[in-house]
Amino acid sequence: MKTIPRRSIGGDQTASSPKLVILGAGITGMFLAYYLRKDGYEVRLIDKDPVGREASVYNAGLLTPSFAPTPQLSKLQLLSAVIGRRGPLYISPMQVITHLSWFRIASGKALTGFEESTMKIGKLSLRLYEEFFSSENIDPDLAKGVVGLYRTVEDAKAFSTRFGGKLLEPAEISRMGYKGLEGGILVESEFSINPAKLFKQLRTRIQEMGVVITLDKEARLDDGARPRARYMLDGKVFEADSIIVSAGSWTRTLCNQVGFEPEILPASGLVMIYDTGGRRVIARPTLLEDYGIGIAQHDDHTLRVTSFFEMVGFKKHYGEGRKKWLVDIVSRHVTDLSKLRLVEEGIGFRPCTPDQFSVIGRVPYYENLYVASGNCRLGVTLAPASAYILRSIIRGEDCLDEIKPLLSPERFHS
Ligand SMILES: Cc1cc2nc3c(=O)[nH]c(=O)nc-3n(C[C@H](O)[C@H](O)[C@H](O)COP(=O)(O)OP(=O)(O)OC[C@H]3O[C@@H](n4cnc5c(N)ncnc54)[C@H](O)[C@@H]3O)c2cc1C
Repeated sequence: MKTIPRRSIGGDQTASSPKLVILGAGITGMFLAYYLRKDGYEVRLIDKDPVGREASVYNAGLLTPSFAPTPQLSKLQLLSAVIGRRGPLYISPMQVITHLSWFRIASGKALTGFEESTMKIGKLSLRLYEEFFSSENIDPDLAKGVVGLYRTVEDAKAFSTRFGGKLLEPAEISRMGYKGLEGGILVESEFSINPAKLFKQLRTRIQEMGVVITLDKEARLDDGARPRARYMLDGKVFEADSIIVSAGSWTRTLCNQVGFEPEILPASGLVMIYDTGGRRVIARPTLLEDYGIGIAQHDDHTLRVTSFFEMVGFKKHYGEGRKKWLVDIVSRHVTDLSKLRLVEEGIGFRPCTPDQFSVIGRVPYYENLYVASGNCRLGVTLAPASAYILRSIIRGEDCLDEIKPLLSPERFHS
């Protein structure tokens, strides 16, 4: 076990400060620790990983609620996603058979209203990010303005009519470093970050504030004292005033230990990081919307390419054929890909619910057990707001109260 010591105390911790334990030190768990420590709670953060990074490091780093809408998929496209790996989406038939209730809810849920509510949470989150960056003097390679590119101008116009954003001329798209894509949208108020830098800087900051971080320890939940939940490490049982499960795609495993089903399944994605040798390859962080590919250049050397949405459980493998598909598409649409050197590859697991909202709130039948899952495709974007919403629930305060029922852990069971 590696325990990182406190360096200095933030907040008003006293002998009687409420003790709060967060299981999962990804981006959501760390923002929870940040806000609750500021409120004066004594916070312990536990992660099973020696570093504790998972999806919070291996993602596209786009903070962009405007691109929340799920790409429209025909029945044929969905069927082909189950039959084989042709495009970015793949769903293993075994997952469908094993988790029928999840897929039944997903196919029955009308997602109307998803965009509007997600935009509200997203706007709060972007404001919290801006406050966090300026008050903590943190800069994880912040780049303003996110671009969505489409094969046709009509698709870009359709997006712009529904969700706003400035339409781009083909010449502008070409100047940004792209080819073969006619339609584009620029959302100037949204941004991208380097997720690895954000992760590191936030981790350092919460340590400085006095959050105790225990790594390389897999926690379990114990229901022996219901309605009080307890947590276990190395077979020993511990109590806390509040326990928060913030374990991303593993939230389900922990919740199942106390008899609760949060309906969260993992969807994996691949991240490839290149050294550009000092060249700027693209001008703006971009989503190639027809392919589900994200591309962002964080500095003069680091280019991040991400794709795939595979529901295959926790399988951590992408074959050469899949990588070739990704590289071929990127080569087709990025003008100058010469002399790039692949320096890192990683796989992240998106915590996905069937209605695409996060799960945030108190776990039914428990007084002191809470859950704050990341969001499937927008977990980094929404992390500060998710933490803020759960903080308000724990403290009995108001915060986007009209949206809380959509996030409630009980919503799939009523
Ligand atoms: C390829 C890809 C691209 C993405 N792109 C974007 C994007 O551009 N923008 C965006 O907003 N979102 C994006 N996402 C989604 C986003 O990355 C995730 O939603 C987010 O990182 C989830 O954060 P989290 O803290 O909830 O979970 P995680 O980062 O998965 O952290 C959960 C932590 O819990 C720990 N844990 C699990 N079980 C236990 C246990 N029993 N005991 C102790 N610790 C435990 C794990 O080790 C892990 O560190 C992307 C995801 C992927 C995979």
